Amino acid sequence: MSGVAPGAVPPDYPRVRDLGGGVLQIDTGHHGNPGTIAVYAVPLPAGGFALVESGPASTRAAVEAGLEEAGLDPADLRYLLVTHIHLDHAAAAGALLAGSDARLVVHEAGAAHMIDPSRLMASAERVYGDELEGLWGRMQPVAAERVRAVAGGERLDLGGLTVEVIATPGHAKHHVSYLLPDGTLFTGDSAGVRLQGAPVLRPALPPPDLDLEAWEGSVARMRAAGPERLVLTHFGPVSGRDAADAHLAAVLERNRAWAESVLAGLRAGEDDAALVRRVQALEDAELAAAGVLPGLRQRYKVTSDAAMTVMGVKRYYTKRGVA
Ligand SMILES: [Zn+2]
Repeated sequence: MSGVAPGAVPPDYPRVRDLGGGVLQIDTGHHGNPGTIAVYAVPLPAGGFALVESGPASTRAAVEAGLEEAGLDPADLRYLLVTHIHLDHAAAAGALLAGSDARLVVHEAGAAHMIDPSRLMASAERVYGDELEGLWGRMQPVAAERVRAVAGGERLDLGGLTVEVIATPGHAKHHVSYLLPDGTLFTGDSAGVRLQGAPVLRPALPPPDLDLEAWEGSVARMRAAGPERLVLTHFGPVSGRDAADAHLAAVLERNRAWAESVLAGLRAGEDDAALVRRVQALEDAELAAAGVLPGLRQRYKVTSDAAMTVMGVKRYYTKRGVA
């Protein structure tokens, strides 16, 4: 032990962290950015384990190493639950499933893209170009008979563990969240981004199907479930019923604040570059006000990118004829 007071040092980033209540956090360490994308392993009463999120295809080896470090054999994967099909949450699913007999749980509107990821990969290629492979890797298809499609409202018996599925559209139309019997709620991106070591909640407002109204309903459903803790994919737990509820309430306030700033820029006739600068100024001010260390500020930026935010919000308002 160094004797340095906790709080005076930046957060540490172990590959595996036991969150208690039978939930193990595994850090994908994505692209040299530990503490930005997690997957969660939950050992099951009937044996084997479930995984919430797969992480990017490019970090599959890190996830498997994390499982082994946690004493779990990747071949004992029984269920893989993804909150939605974006590449940071679901791209390794096919590869992880190939090494086991596990089933995939995914929203019914995302299932077809997991079975045949070619269109998803083609659109990612248009966004990321040559960087696609290194950043996210290639998705492998999942056999249709291994997919359990859900829409929200289901109670799944996963090897003796009951998991409730909550529909949480907003960030994406095919987004669901997963509630454990002890009140642990895996929120994917439906509770925004809050990295370990900083009290900053950042909206996650990407294209193509951002829906702020739908998101309000999602937050209402999550709050009504009374979670004892939230577990964010980006990144880690928000523990305690009051803290979880306050966090969920703040998600809508943050979404609105950012979306309205972009809308103000659109109405003022700002071009995309000016809109991106506007969002960057907003995030810089928030991160500086919270005293976030520069390295961690950078991690916030890579986790929810300003250009993506502008594209997502612009498309949302344009579709509705508001801007
Ligand atoms: Zn995400």
